[in-house]
Amino acid sequence: MSEAVVGTKTVAEINERLRRGEAVVLTAHELKEEVRRGRRFEVEDVDVVTTGSRGPMSGTAAALSFPLSGWRGSGGRLRVWMNGVPAFPGPATSEGEDTLDVVVYGTAASRYEPRRYGGGHLFRELVEGKPIHVEITAAGHPAIRRTVTIHDFNFARLYSVRNAFRNYTAFANFRGTRPLETIFGFRPMGPETGITVVGSGETNPLQNDPELRVIRLGTRILVNGAPGIVVGAGTRSSPARPNLSLVADMVGMDPEYMGGFMTDAGVEVLNAIAVPIPILDEATLRGVLEARDETIRLPVADVSDRLPFTETTYAEVWRGPDLQVRYDPAKCVTCSFACVAEHYCPVGAIVWSDKRHDDALCLACGACTVNCVGGAFTAELGQLTVDGRKVPITFRQSDRRRAMKIADLLRDRMRRGEFLLGDLGDRIEHRLPGP
Ligand code: SF4
Ligand code: SF4
Repeated sequence: MSEAVVGTKTVAEINERLRRGEAVVLTAHELKEEVRRGRRFEVEDVDVVTTGSRGPMSGTAAALSFPLSGWRGSGGRLRVWMNGVPAFPGPATSEGEDTLDVVVYGTAASRYEPRRYGGGHLFRELVEGKPIHVEITAAGHPAIRRTVTIHDFNFARLYSVRNAFRNYTAFANFRGTRPLETIFGFRPMGPETGITVVGSGETNPLQNDPELRVIRLGTRILVNGAPGIVVGAGTRSSPARPNLSLVADMVGMDPEYMGGFMTDAGVEVLNAIAVPIPILDEATLRGVLEARDETIRLPVADVSDRLPFTETTYAEVWRGPDLQVRYDPAKCVTCSFACVAEHYCPVGAIVWSDKRHDDALCLACGACTVNCVGGAFTAELGQLTVDGRKVPITFRQSDRRRAMKIADLLRDRMRRGEFLLGDLGDRIEHRLPGP
C-alpha cells in the first residue's frame, strides 16, 4: 500500500516549500555538526536531510544500446568487448536493425589489462565522452572493430543490485601468519600491516533511515549526480545489513563520482549516491539524529572469516583523520625501477612519469601514504582501538569527501526547487514474498 503521510508533515507540503524556496534542507553532516554544538532539533525545524555515500558498489551493470553498422548477418554466437571489457549482447540480436544492445558488468575485467581496467573504468570513460573501442567476433566471420562515444547511444542506463550498504566492517589479518588475497586490500593483506575500513559513517543514507521508513520503492535519488530511483532492496539485503537496488540514466552523471577500483582480488566499480530523508515525523528525525560517527558501530573482523569479534565506532575513522592526501613531488626519491605508490593506487590517480597526482580520481584511500618510499604522499589516516590496542588504518575504501559532496549537491538542488521528493511508495522488503 502506498502511504502519503506517516506523521506530522507530508511529502506534498515539503514539496510545496521546496518549490517556493522556503524548505529547510540540511546535509546529514551539517545537521550533526549543529547537534555537536548543542542544538536540539524538532520535526518542524528541518524538512529534508540529504545523505550520501561513495565507494565500491559491486552489483553495478550498464545496459547500453547503440547503432553499429556491419555486425548484422555475422551469424553464430556474437562476442562483444568494449575497451576489452566483455559486453553481453541481447535482446533482439535477430531484429533487422543495426542496433546493438549489450549489458556490461561493472566488475568485469578487460581482457587486455584484467587487473587495471574493468567495467567501472569503462562507465566513467563513457560518461566523460571518451571514444570507446567495440570489437565483435562471431565464428567464421572476420572481427568487426568500431569506435563509439556516448553521443552515439540511444540508451545508457546503470542498474545496481547491491548498492549503498548501511556502513560495513573493518578488516585486518589478525590471526594469519602469511598474506591473504582479499577485495579489502590493495595487495595481499599481511599480518600486522594495519587495518582496512569501509563505510561513509554518518553521511550514509541507510544509516540515517535504519528502518527504511522513508527510503522506499520509487524514492528519487541522485546516482553519480544524475536523477535515479530506488527500485528495492539489494541482493543479500537484510534488516540487519540492508543495501539498495537502484536505476539511473548515465546521461547527466558526473564522472568525478564514478570509476574503476582495483583490489588485490580484481576490479570493482565506484558509485556515489545521494538520498533525501524527508523529516516527516519524530521517528524519522530520531533515526537521523542518532546516526553520528560517535554512535555508529564499526564491527572489526579478521579477514580470513569476516566474522566480527569486537567493535569500535566510525568516529575513529572520520572524526579527525584527513579526507584528502597531500602530494609533494620534491620528496620523491625516484625509486630505482618502479613507483610502488603508482602500482598500488586503486584508481590510477598517480602518474609517476609526470610526477602527477590526479585529485579528481583520488579517493583518499591512503594506500600511497603507506607505500611511498620517499614520503611524497601524506595524510593522517587515524587508528582503530581493537581490544585495547591501537591499530593504524592503512586503507579506506569509502570516499567520505565525495559522500559529503554529493549530499551537498542534492541539498543545493533541493533548495533551488530543482529536485523534489517523490511520493512515498511501498515499504522495501528484503526478500521476495514467499509462495
Ligand atoms: S614510491 Fe614514492 S618515492 Fe618512490 S617513485 Fe613513487 S612517489 Fe617517488
Ligand atoms: S590516496 Fe593515494 S593510493 Fe589512494 S587513491 Fe589517492 S593517490 Fe591513489
